[in-house]
Amino acid sequence: MRRRLLTALLMAAAVTAPLVPASAQPVHAPADLRQAIARDLPELMALYRDLHANPELSMQETRSAGLLAAEARRLGFTVTERVGQTGVVAVLENGPGPVLMLRADMDGLPVEEQTGLPFASRVRGTTREGLATAIMHACGHDTHMAAWVGVARRLVALRGQWRGTLVMVAQPGEETSQGAKAMLEDGLFTRFPRPTHAIAFHDSATLPAGMIGYSDGPALANVDSVDMIVRGVGGHGAAPHTTRDPIVLAARIVTSLQTLVSRELDPLDSAVVTVGSFQAGTKHNIISDEARLLITVRSYTPEIRRQLLDGIARIARGEAIAAGVPEDRMPTVTVREAEATPATVNTDGLTGETMARFRAHFGEARVRQMRPVMAGEDFGRFRLASPGLQSLIFWVGGVPQARWDAANGNMASLPSLHSPFWAPDAEPVIATATEALTVAALGVLGRP
Ligand SMILES: [Zn+2]
Ligand SMILES: [Zn+2]
Repeated sequence: MRRRLLTALLMAAAVTAPLVPASAQPVHAPADLRQAIARDLPELMALYRDLHANPELSMQETRSAGLLAAEARRLGFTVTERVGQTGVVAVLENGPGPVLMLRADMDGLPVEEQTGLPFASRVRGTTREGLATAIMHACGHDTHMAAWVGVARRLVALRGQWRGTLVMVAQPGEETSQGAKAMLEDGLFTRFPRPTHAIAFHDSATLPAGMIGYSDGPALANVDSVDMIVRGVGGHGAAPHTTRDPIVLAARIVTSLQTLVSRELDPLDSAVVTVGSFQAGTKHNIISDEARLLITVRSYTPEIRRQLLDGIARIARGEAIAAGVPEDRMPTVTVREAEATPATVNTDGLTGETMARFRAHFGEARVRQMRPVMAGEDFGRFRLASPGLQSLIFWVGGVPQARWDAANGNMASLPSLHSPFWAPDAEPVIATATEALTVAALGVLGRP
């Protein structure tokens, strides 16, 4: 009797409304998706090894772009190449609904690979500064491109389960902070469907392979480059009293700059002021007439960014006055605005919903909240260019499990991103990222 009543209730429920709201229903079983990706993995790994062996410098990614464009075309996307020099935009329209942008960056770095991998890069090239250099995928953008192809394949295969528009973006020049800007200036948001949501991932050198990490809110920092020329009055090294020594003055400025973060910021706010280059003089016995400082400045909010940049100019001038430098020889401070990278902020709604999906799909143990990092990433530019854009970048761990275990929490013993030794365990990175991006995309586009 009771069973019959239950059956009747269930049948009535099935007719009137689903027991679970449609938005919370998994559109496919995790095992099915995992199997499909496992079948794709040999080809994705072959692509990864090819990309790894043939890295390209920022804004020169023609070969990589060509491979991704060809793959997207085969899958039925409408593909436009050379967007922002070497960028690729692949669009798949699948009925009315949200517009989701999935972005991978393509560039390698001027680093000489020392991983010893059988498919290690032996490629050389020339940077935009004209420097001849070895090239390496030392940031893992090769894993990003392989997963980009992986998720494109899955979403085409699952197109019956989602509605909306998919905009797959292969972006050049992330490492030089040029690429997102170049693509936006070339009409990424005007010539193509304007995204409502944007998602990307980055491989991580601080998580074991296959783990997923994320930050709520700011994930990566505002990055500014500042050039300072400290001018003095040069002369003979034996007659310092007839000069205004810019080296002594610049050394004082370097020391005083340390107080910007330690004495002027709220201790609970985060920022970095690093003098990365200090150059002056030519000879033992000549007091130079200028010194040059190159400074990197990192922050999360526009207010703190402004406070630091203003503080640098104030300290430079104040120390110059204290040193008796004439008014017409005050230091010049130039913020390289064109190269500034804005903070990358994960928006609340998309981040919370996607992480809930990840936890349901991968299990609690594979999804970890992380502290934001002070590195930069020009993915943040897309959100700034489109107010209201829901934006998320998450991490996929790349440290081989055995190395992770051997490090036993000593992160200094592990190679970081950009290290010539950085060799992520690419298979779990690409498989996990493909799976996570697919789950995230279906979360956005699979809504009723
Ligand atoms: Zn990088
Ligand atoms: Zn990177």
